[in-house]
Amino acid sequence: VTAEGTPFAFRTASEDGPARRGWFTTPHGVVETPAFMPVGTHGTVKGLTVDEVKATGAQMILSNAYHLYLRPGDGVVRALGGLHAFSRWHGPMLTDSGGFQVFSLAKHRIVSEQGIEFRSHLDGSLHDYTPERVMQIERNIGADVVMQLDELIAGQSGLAASREAMERSLRWLDRCRAEFERIGREGRAPLDELVAAEGAPALATLDRAADLAAPRQALFPIVQGGIHPELRRASVQGIRQAGDWHGIAIGGLSVGEAKADTYATIEVCVPDLPRDKPRYLMGVGFPDDLVESVRRGVDIFDCVVPTRMGRHGTFFSPDGTVQIRRAEHKLDRRPLVAECDCFACTHYDRAYIRHLFVAEEMLGLRLLSLHNVHYLVGLMREARTQLAAGTFNAWSEAWLARYRANGRAAPTQ
Ligand SMILES: [Zn+2]
Repeated sequence: VTAEGTPFAFRTASEDGPARRGWFTTPHGVVETPAFMPVGTHGTVKGLTVDEVKATGAQMILSNAYHLYLRPGDGVVRALGGLHAFSRWHGPMLTDSGGFQVFSLAKHRIVSEQGIEFRSHLDGSLHDYTPERVMQIERNIGADVVMQLDELIAGQSGLAASREAMERSLRWLDRCRAEFERIGREGRAPLDELVAAEGAPALATLDRAADLAAPRQALFPIVQGGIHPELRRASVQGIRQAGDWHGIAIGGLSVGEAKADTYATIEVCVPDLPRDKPRYLMGVGFPDDLVESVRRGVDIFDCVVPTRMGRHGTFFSPDGTVQIRRAEHKLDRRPLVAECDCFACTHYDRAYIRHLFVAEEMLGLRLLSLHNVHYLVGLMREARTQLAAGTFNAWSEAWLARYRANGRAAPTQ
């Protein structure tokens, strides 16, 4: 517990322009920043055990409230001790509210001031996603950091639509905070009705008094406003006027806009954000995006890209992304990346991993996922080392020049 009486704190050192090295303290440990959070959408980083994730050096992972709410149900996660106990990841954890998933996956979506009514992408069942309900779900799941419900729109949306969504997201932030704080004061609703249909074994062993207490969590607001600078500034201002936060996220990027717009929007937001709080850029995770964003003052990242690309046979290297299935790797005895110390690179060569992909062996997907997560986590560790040494700016320029030299760098998803 810090001096302010909360288990959350952030301190920085070794600044280089807007870039800085930091330490984000949570109830489940300290996260060194800049940091990449591997994404465990369903409470698991796809294909990897928690020990494998830990071995990459990852200190914090992300999970998704939308997916866990639909399956197995936030009540089930809570009955089984919360997501840390359920998933066996005992380090810092964050849940996204699922706003993005509701907009990208759900069917028959109706957005109103009250919230979002949608049909599940799994079974077509009808659900009511309001700011209050989302806070109850995230309180049940129990991650250290929980994200507000926000309204998402396409990256190239015009000014009027972007303004409407940004202003609604601010109003929803007020409702999220009121409900988040109410549960913090009054505790969580009794679990019985949430899991009544599931049978009683987990409930029989539940410590009911401890279960009702709200876990120690921090609510992060999300800056919206599309690619419109005046809206981004208004969003930051609205968030800062709404209260003091343990961290602030920049959302709504990497959703179809040009990379130059992504970077320009970060440059608009960062100067107005508090210097003494972590800045989390949501859903942006190609290696060059990470380095460019750290240069602009971002501290924390998440993205599904390393595991998704790994499952599709693409791996990260200092010279851009590479497709392992290419014929040129058939007799290639080199590791994926010579200077990488992940399990895949220290045990196997490209020829063997290519064979696994061609033969559709599941080990191939696991090895590339492992390498890609390790690569991004390691890239941020290197950024921290360079920041501490005062050499970050020169290092990052050289790193970006090499990454882009052969033109293989993939566009933002
Ligand atoms: Zn590797």
